[in-house]
Amino acid sequence: METTDAFVGLDCRDCGERVDAETGTHRCPDCGGILDPAYDYDAIDLTREDLAADPFDGMWRYDALLPFSRETAVTMDEGTTPLASAPKLADELGVAEVYIKDEGRNPTGSFKDRGQTAAVTAAVEHGAEEVALASAGNAGQSAAAYAARAGLDSHVFLPTRAGFTNKAMVNVHGGDLNVVEGRIGDAGSALGDAMEDHEDWYAVQTFVTPYRHEGKKTMYYELPEQLDWEVPDHVVYPTGGGVGLVGMYKAAVEFEELGLTDEMPAFHAAQSEGCAPIVEAFEEGRDHHEAWEVPDTICGGIEIPDPGASPWILEAIRESGGRAVAASDEEILDSLVTVAQNEGAEMGVTCAAAAAGAWKLAEDGHFDADDTVVLLNTATGNKDADVARSHLMGKGI
Ligand SMILES: *Cc1c(COP(=O)(O)O)cnc(C)c1O
Ligand SMILES: [Zn+2]
Repeated sequence: METTDAFVGLDCRDCGERVDAETGTHRCPDCGGILDPAYDYDAIDLTREDLAADPFDGMWRYDALLPFSRETAVTMDEGTTPLASAPKLADELGVAEVYIKDEGRNPTGSFKDRGQTAAVTAAVEHGAEEVALASAGNAGQSAAAYAARAGLDSHVFLPTRAGFTNKAMVNVHGGDLNVVEGRIGDAGSALGDAMEDHEDWYAVQTFVTPYRHEGKKTMYYELPEQLDWEVPDHVVYPTGGGVGLVGMYKAAVEFEELGLTDEMPAFHAAQSEGCAPIVEAFEEGRDHHEAWEVPDTICGGIEIPDPGASPWILEAIRESGGRAVAASDEEILDSLVTVAQNEGAEMGVTCAAAAAGAWKLAEDGHFDADDTVVLLNTATGNKDADVARSHLMGKGI
């Protein structure tokens, strides 16, 4: 296995054991905990000048802080997405600046590409020939694309309520599409059953592979650079499994460790009232979520009733001074339309939870007049045009 110089192995989030990345491919062999890529930061010499001298040409430009090098990566130049200002939104929220980080510009139209480029690279390094996952939709589409690029087979399990584009594109990439009646949990069970019969399938599932949050952490690296090394005050993130949130928090700690920045934003988790286990745990002051009994939201990407990494998500929120907020589906769809009509930006339905969440945070007095707020538009609005249009129909438009 070919890895980068400073990458020293995988640390278990639960028992603290360090696992060799060559033999430890997924969860902790000792306790089943989540594995997290670890580095010798003293061996990394990365300055603002180094970064400024490098073209802004994809997330693998940060490979000194990733397990694999750009040369070995299965990549389509994902990442380095635009950070577009949203001045009318800033007025509306009563803050100095709002920016929308447009992750819809990634190869398959969502930030899941940052996770899959890393996870599929690991699969190749481990000699896998077939990858498998259950997903709400975007991760499945992305995995099928990266597997195709690497010449691997993919087995994708999606719930019936996954969006049409996701299902269609799994087929187009030549993936083995399994549509499972029900929700993400049902797709996960079907994957589990299938994996028992196919021991050679390599899971590229959230927090089963140690590499998806690792790829997604690059979203944060780009922010201070795009803001001339001003660290934003707030980052609002539509949170399901929390992969992106813990990844960004990890990245912010790393940039401080390397002396590139000396503060971090407040990371806020935005959820839908139809599935808000993180908000509930945050409000009740708990360190762990309780599974949401009847998840029901139009925001498929964050309809995750049982986020296994909740202790880490809650730590990221609390340590950074963030909050967890929920909005109704109606408010989320209204936010999507407001952003589209005032800023031109096309947010995905799930992503609009970040905009609706920002409104709640503003109403509740958590923003100051001189603050800079970043909203993560985790996927392109194109994928959800039908849902957004139907919302107008419901208003007689
Ligand atoms: C997967 C997904 C999310 C949630 O991602 P996590 O990092 O697992 O919380 C948010 N938005 C969209 C569009 C997604 O596809
Ligand atoms: Zn362990």
